[in-house]
Amino acid sequence: MIIEDNCLTLNQIADFLSERGYKVVPCKYCEEAKELLNEVLPDLIILDIIMPDMDGHDFCRWIRSNSRLKMIPIIFLTARDSIEDKITGLKIGGDDYITKPFSMDELLARIEVILQRMDSFHELSMRDELTNSFNRRYFKERLQEEIHRVKRTGRPFSIIIADIDYFKKINDAYGHCVGDFVLVQLVRFLQNHLRRTDLVARLGGEEFVLLLPDTSSGKAFLLMERIRKVLAETHFQYNDNDTVADITLTVSAGIACCPEHAEDAESLMTLADRALYSAKTAGRNTIKISIAAQKHT
Ligand SMILES: [Mg+2]
Repeated sequence: MIIEDNCLTLNQIADFLSERGYKVVPCKYCEEAKELLNEVLPDLIILDIIMPDMDGHDFCRWIRSNSRLKMIPIIFLTARDSIEDKITGLKIGGDDYITKPFSMDELLARIEVILQRMDSFHELSMRDELTNSFNRRYFKERLQEEIHRVKRTGRPFSIIIADIDYFKKINDAYGHCVGDFVLVQLVRFLQNHLRRTDLVARLGGEEFVLLLPDTSSGKAFLLMERIRKVLAETHFQYNDNDTVADITLTVSAGIACCPEHAEDAESLMTLADRALYSAKTAGRNTIKISIAAQKHT
């Protein structure tokens, strides 16, 4: 998003960036930008400071105080070039500062640096540190998206909560390094045996959740049964200087399907968790589908 009251500068930047593949939202006024920000979430804002309807610094403060918008990087663009102005701009949450007149190439270079940094932050913020699977936060976002998709398309999806059986025994017998190794190996194993559109996230400890778009509970069950059987026969070789271990493991899992069992995130998680619990009590190395009749509407 470019917010700049000078039409010539606005168009120059917009054209320059469009030609380089950026999707540009040009705005002449801060109020217009505020309006548009109800609908769009830009990756970056280029913001003029001297504007007719609002001071750019105030606009920046407004962005930073808005929970949905506050992470958007901002590059200030201005004719003011005093050190005090630059310091003010950075202190209130500007990420960079360009003084007019400026070279388009310099602006582009600054944009690219910021966007690359944001990409790596985003990548980090959605991954589990140990296993590099997705984390709970990212899963929650995707779960909401899938629920919306079901409402639009009517096509079901399933979630599977899977938990390693007797994981504590592995830790107790071989130590935490081997326990961590098992978690990493299991994520790889699951990713290799799922479809490209499926997602694996670590909920915490030895508990994982799978998100299977476009999948009924019956289909999810068949898929997970296959995985369960192959996993039970797979040997993971841990070989470090001091420790050599040949590990086999099993998982238990519970399945809940949207919209079959529930249509909101919390109920789906509760039902999958309950199904997991009944898989555990049924003797482990077992997959159970939710038996919820109490579908929430
Ligand atoms: Mg201006």
